[in-house]
Amino acid sequence: MDTTLVDSFGRRVEYLRLSLTDRCDLRCFYCMPKGFSDYESPAEWLSPDELERMVRTFARLGVRRVRLTGGEPLLRPDLVEIARRISSLHGIEDLSLSTNGVRLAKLAPQLRSAGVARLNVSLDSLHPDRFREITGGGQLERVLEGLRAAQSSGYEPIKINMVVLRDVNHEEVEDMVSFCLDNNFTLRFIEAMPVGSTGRSATSHYVDLAEVEAQLAKRYRLVPAIVKGGGPARYVQVAGTPLRIGFITPISQHFCDTCNRVRLGVDGTLYLCLGDQYSIAMGSLLRSGASDSDLHETLLQAIAMKPERHTFSETPDKVVRFMSQTGG
Ligand code: SAM
Repeated sequence: MDTTLVDSFGRRVEYLRLSLTDRCDLRCFYCMPKGFSDYESPAEWLSPDELERMVRTFARLGVRRVRLTGGEPLLRPDLVEIARRISSLHGIEDLSLSTNGVRLAKLAPQLRSAGVARLNVSLDSLHPDRFREITGGGQLERVLEGLRAAQSSGYEPIKINMVVLRDVNHEEVEDMVSFCLDNNFTLRFIEAMPVGSTGRSATSHYVDLAEVEAQLAKRYRLVPAIVKGGGPARYVQVAGTPLRIGFITPISQHFCDTCNRVRLGVDGTLYLCLGDQYSIAMGSLLRSGASDSDLHETLLQAIAMKPERHTFSETPDKVVRFMSQTGG
């Protein structure tokens, strides 16, 4: 029996992004529509037992890294238990988490003790009013408080994710560099993607990150760098400082040829590509009494369906689900 997940293009999948909820306590305008509440019912959410079983199956097939995401994973009441169970699984070497940081102040130490080693925090603005506008009511101070708690809990690294949007937060790029330098965070800039109707409408604010890099290169000497993690960012370091800056460029320079990941939605739906509608209902299979070898075989067959690349530029209308539903 095959023991690793290798797709039709020879790419080995060793990274799983696990959505623990499709709910979020922010409403970033490019991600989820205002007033949206058509969520999966909690009865459909994979339970800690089911999550553990799914991740164990992935681990047997060579998955080594797991990222907990959503929606906002910190909304999940059993998050600490889930983290503890996944980080203890044989074969899982790296457990990380993506969060908006709003509820991090309280949870940062517990999650660190439960085995979450690395943290990504979304932060699109350092101005309270603008932050509130982008996020549909979020309080910047709560995120900053969460980041301070994360620093004292010993996460390494802490990465700040900023979606750069023209006429929204574009002018804050250099301020964000200073903020990350001052706080010893890693910074990642992200290009807006046409995921769901919200993502599509935000592409009118799209910024090609080559422009951001050129802007920063006028002020800083940037040298190529490597950063721990399974992600797609291309990194530079600000010479003479510890600051590393990543550019995530799904639109201007896609990185599909090195894609090593799949995503599992809150109900166990397996998505093979962020930019594709095709999915496999692993959750239903699990709940229909499937054996471990059924799950194993289904994953091996599913991986053959992973598309070669997304087609965000050619067919921007393709993905109708929101980022929060896929596990962004
Ligand atoms: N709530 C968590 C967080 O804030 O990081 C995890 C889920 S959130 C969907 C993950 C990331 O996706 C965030 O950094 C968010 O900014 C990004 N995102 C959402 N919609 C996007 C879009 N249309 N284009 C680019 N990035 C997007």
